Amino acid sequence: MNTPRDTQAGAGNGASTLDAIGNTPMVELRNLDTGPCRLFAKMELFNPGGSIKDRIALGMVEAAERDGRLEPGGTIVEATSGNTGIGLALVAALKGYRMILIIPDKMSREKIQQCRALGAEVIVTRTDVPPGHPLQYQTMAADIEARTTGALYIRQHYNPDNPAVHEVTTGPEIWSQMDGDIDAIVGGIGTAGTMTGLGRYFRKIAPDLKMILADPAGSLLAHYVQTGELTEPGAWVVEGIGEDELPPVGDMSLIDEAIVVSDRDSLAAARGLLKTEGIMGGSSTGTIAAAAAEWCRRQTAPKRVVAIIPDGGDKYLSKMYDDHWMADQGFVERETYGDLRDLIARRHDEHEDITVPPDATLAIALGKMRLFNISQLPVVQDARIIGLIDESDLLQRVLANADTQGAFGDLVATAMTAKLETLPPDAGLDAVKATFEKGFVALIRDENQYWGLVTRTDLLNWLRRNRPAA
Ligand code: PMP
Repeated sequence: MNTPRDTQAGAGNGASTLDAIGNTPMVELRNLDTGPCRLFAKMELFNPGGSIKDRIALGMVEAAERDGRLEPGGTIVEATSGNTGIGLALVAALKGYRMILIIPDKMSREKIQQCRALGAEVIVTRTDVPPGHPLQYQTMAADIEARTTGALYIRQHYNPDNPAVHEVTTGPEIWSQMDGDIDAIVGGIGTAGTMTGLGRYFRKIAPDLKMILADPAGSLLAHYVQTGELTEPGAWVVEGIGEDELPPVGDMSLIDEAIVVSDRDSLAAARGLLKTEGIMGGSSTGTIAAAAAEWCRRQTAPKRVVAIIPDGGDKYLSKMYDDHWMADQGFVERETYGDLRDLIARRHDEHEDITVPPDATLAIALGKMRLFNISQLPVVQDARIIGLIDESDLLQRVLANADTQGAFGDLVATAMTAKLETLPPDAGLDAVKATFEKGFVALIRDENQYWGLVTRTDLLNWLRRNRPAA
């Protein structure tokens, strides 16, 4: 078991990034409505890999080193879609192990990129296959372990060193940071390592302390805590917490109460925490912060409460911290018009200019397409749309010019398509379909202004949002 390391000693003591795991700060949340209670946040996002999972990555690897399951130069294998993979990749990089991660293909690109950047070999496999299928991610990990000499499959969901790390490091840190005065801890459960380890530690040192589960709506854990029954799980968007089965390494009897939080409230709470407290947490942070504030407000006597902040929000920039994603998923209301303007994913407005002027260069147009991850740009002058430039216009121009680099300096006006088909907002869905059939995107404008464009993806997203399956 790794013991808390002394990161306070001065530089020059040979400390590595691994020594910066743990000993995370505790801050008070002063701007949330917490009724009679004081609410504190254990800032696990400050770990070097950006999450609480660095602790267990280091703990599980060092335990395996100690008992000889992992030898120098060996291979670490894990089937994970998230933060444990990043933590393990970090530990493997610094300790010189080969790291193989098997990740299901629904995972965010950012997490996969971070693991690869840390030197891990990432195998992306199918999400939609049942346990036991040769392409299922845990089956693949077991198979790779069996075929690779010196390999160890970490199995965080079954690994007793996962909760043990929290019992030995996270628990004592919280106790000392709170000066031994603490009434409740609020956290989420994925593998249950965090809450099981903390529960075991505090049951010994502070038996009256309450362990509160923050659970996303759809997970079966909260209902199990409340009733002892297992129900059919649903689906949820919050990442890293909530389960559709009981966590094998967890001890659910340590949990005193559970609070269910909807995806919408979780994401709103996380975004709110950034604005009011300056804490940029991930989606599970939102669930936990919302549940913690709720629990605090329910109390009649003053209490001191700690909420766990499991990871940072940088991995969710393209999701919950992107206003367009929030609107696409239906988590925030946008102004609606009841016409084709509602299909425009990115409305043309003063906050976000996803158009180019005719006197911009092709290099600028290409840069903007890359920035917004789109393949065409309306050309706008004085609020009027005068053309459209897409990837094939750019390619044609650049390939036709012997001086390729010079061609990127040509003006958009000379390469754009000026013959435009536009639709008024009230043209209707059939008009959009007809426009797509001709191979065009639908440009929505009325006599006064250009509103934005509708692509096939926009229509698909809109249909998914607005037309639930029959
Ligand atoms: N939040 C996030 C973002 C996570 O990745 C995890 C780990 N799955 C948790 C919370 C829950 O931690 P644990 O596995 O210890 O229950």
